[in-house]
Amino acid sequence: MELLRNAVRPYAWGSRTAIPELLGSPVPAPHPQAELWLGAHPADPSVLMHADGAQTSLLEALRTDPYRHLGTRCAQRWGGRLPFLLKVLAAEEPLSLQAHPSAEQAAEGFAREEGRGVPRDAPERNYVDPSHKPELICALTELQALAGFRDPRRTVELLKALDVPALQPYRAMLAAEPNADGLRTLFTTWITMPETAMKAVLPGTLDACVALLRRDGVCGGDFRTPRGGDFRTPRGGDFRTECRVILELAETYPGDVGVLAALLLNHVVLASGEAMYLPAGNLHTYLRGTGVEISANSDNVLRGGLTSKHIDVPELLRVLDFSYGALPVQRGERVGLHETAYRTLAEEFQLTRLEWADGESTPVCLHSRWPQILLCTQGSAQLHSLDGGSVTVRRGGSVWLAAADPDVTLCPGPGPVQLFRALPGLAPLPAHPGPSSGSE
Ligand SMILES: [Zn+2]
Repeated sequence: MELLRNAVRPYAWGSRTAIPELLGSPVPAPHPQAELWLGAHPADPSVLMHADGAQTSLLEALRTDPYRHLGTRCAQRWGGRLPFLLKVLAAEEPLSLQAHPSAEQAAEGFAREEGRGVPRDAPERNYVDPSHKPELICALTELQALAGFRDPRRTVELLKALDVPALQPYRAMLAAEPNADGLRTLFTTWITMPETAMKAVLPGTLDACVALLRRDGVCGGDFRTPRGGDFRTPRGGDFRTECRVILELAETYPGDVGVLAALLLNHVVLASGEAMYLPAGNLHTYLRGTGVEISANSDNVLRGGLTSKHIDVPELLRVLDFSYGALPVQRGERVGLHETAYRTLAEEFQLTRLEWADGESTPVCLHSRWPQILLCTQGSAQLHSLDGGSVTVRRGGSVWLAAADPDVTLCPGPGPVQLFRALPGLAPLPAHPGPSSGSE
């Protein structure tokens, strides 16, 4: 059981306040702080802070003693690597429009680029490791995203509402085939569009978004996220949010083909504590907000726009999943009196949230046997190990629990207290007989 020191990634889309506030550093930071990485990714591994003042890279510690840190099953299954990467992600501006490969696609793509001799740090390299990268994001603040293709019939309605003559052929294309094939055709047409063709479509589309927002009557009234419904997708004829998103994207990435492509995607709003799972092939981007993200320990990203980074459209098209419909929003499942789990099919990771309201103080026992990271996002907590060791973790702080460490008792400080717990998906979590908030 050791406290962790973690690296901050300064991508340009990052917030200057959210991560510094969490870490208790000066706000605003002089540069964007986009992601805090907790784990053992070779590009930026966390550091173990030992009680005697010594420090070891977690990556190095895993190399030296994989069985102690990961446990036999995990060490063998993932060849001595930590299977997950935990992040705090703080977006001030939209991220690139992206998708991640499946396990087979990643293995094949990695081997192909290795075979062609593309250096692993080359900007045009797509597959930096042979792993897939399913991911789950849990909102800490309201988090807005575009994720997955919207029902194409609904997109036809959106294009009708915009009523742009230059968009008419594309609307007809999708209306004739309102399914995954139609989406593939239209998305491929747009994403591969020559600049001249795009200049004929994009300005009119943006004007139409402005006009729709100004229009009274039909489109009047503010967009409200439907609560209690199954999905975070607006009903009825109101496309104000979609128009706002398109205009914001065009402002940040003028002339970018991703702006048009964004017309096809679901707009998702996660409230604090709500999560969304993004399987392989799901086209997505986060627009704004702060969340805790957990993914397989990979950096394989295929980009299609909204970025100055390398874009590889043919490769993106190879991995994209054109199935459509709103993505389910997870509220988690109770697995303990103070613990809620976000379950996915990924065997590399699972994420739980531990919470105590003000005045609650019941300790929780955390069984070891699996490698785990605890991240405190509110209040503080003390961890007592059965061998007598103890550490205090405060907001922004994190702890590494090795598989061979003894069990730990987690005692919340003065409330409210919140921690996230990352562990392999293979690790069994008990189902709690108490009331479950369920998942939508
Ligand atoms: Zn992603």
